[in-house]
Amino acid sequence: FSGFILYSVFVGASLGSMPEIISQIQAMSGATDRLREIMGLPTEADGGQAVEHLGGALAFRDVHFHYPSRPDQAVLAGVDFEVAPGQRIALVGPSGAGKSTVFSLILGYYRPEQGQVLFDGRDAASLDLHALRKGIAVVPQEVMLFGGTILENIEYGKPGASRQEIIEAAKQANAHAFIEEREQGYETVVGPRGVKLSGGQRQRIAIARAILADPRVLLLDEATSALDAESERLVNEALERLMVGRTSLVIAHRLSTVRTADRILVLNQGKLVEQGSHDELMAHGGTYKVLVQTQLG
Ligand code: ADP
Ligand code: MG
Repeated sequence: FSGFILYSVFVGASLGSMPEIISQIQAMSGATDRLREIMGLPTEADGGQAVEHLGGALAFRDVHFHYPSRPDQAVLAGVDFEVAPGQRIALVGPSGAGKSTVFSLILGYYRPEQGQVLFDGRDAASLDLHALRKGIAVVPQEVMLFGGTILENIEYGKPGASRQEIIEAAKQANAHAFIEEREQGYETVVGPRGVKLSGGQRQRIAIARAILADPRVLLLDEATSALDAESERLVNEALERLMVGRTSLVIAHRLSTVRTADRILVLNQGKLVEQGSHDELMAHGGTYKVLVQTQLG
């Protein structure tokens, strides 16, 4: 978002002098902060406590939330859960249950109106957002690449990374082979005006980016649209490598993903209605069982 504004400033001000550009950027970043306030988003320079290292423990404590634009709709209504460092958690629930909102709160895009989001037992509201986000990587459902080379798109995970590191991350992400098949290799331009990559290839670029970022906490929104079998195998293998040793929360749409989780959280209408293992939840015969039969099957 602010990146987009900076980009617009640079393009729009390409004929201006350097001091002009700088003052425009200062004016714009002030505007960004105000815009974020209006939108109910935290401002970037919030002077929170520095976060040196995330330990990987994550918890929601009685979290209540509604979007600023819809004050009458409780999106999360008292959500409580704890995740130990390195655990793999699957988040499931019908569409509109609040799964993506849980991710937005973890990333600090919004703050709970009641209750707390905790990292290693510390309230996220008191932590430095910028630093916090450095410890978290997201692999979204639909990966959007920005206009630039594949190399730059992966480097985004760790600005200043060496070419060697980037290639190593791409190998781990099962992306190296398809990149090398391109005439321009890592210099292939992708994004809106560049080469079109398949959904599975874009996901593997995002995974390479995340591997390079080396986060303690991983948020994964599994794609709903089916990939072809080979692509799905390559993506899953890459994800497995990425998740090892990290706390991961996966919004899961496939039974195979859910079954490999340490624990499943079932969200329905903003409430955590069940949690446990696949077998426990199937035996319980509640919301999860219905989901498996209707959607996750
Ligand atoms: P899920 O990911 O489980 O499908 P979401 O967290 O996306 O659910 O959405 C939960 C509820 O919040 C839905 O009713 C949705 O319409 C609403 N919602 C999601 N994003 C916004 C937003 N930016 N502004 C207002 N309402 C939203
Ligand atoms: Mg969602």
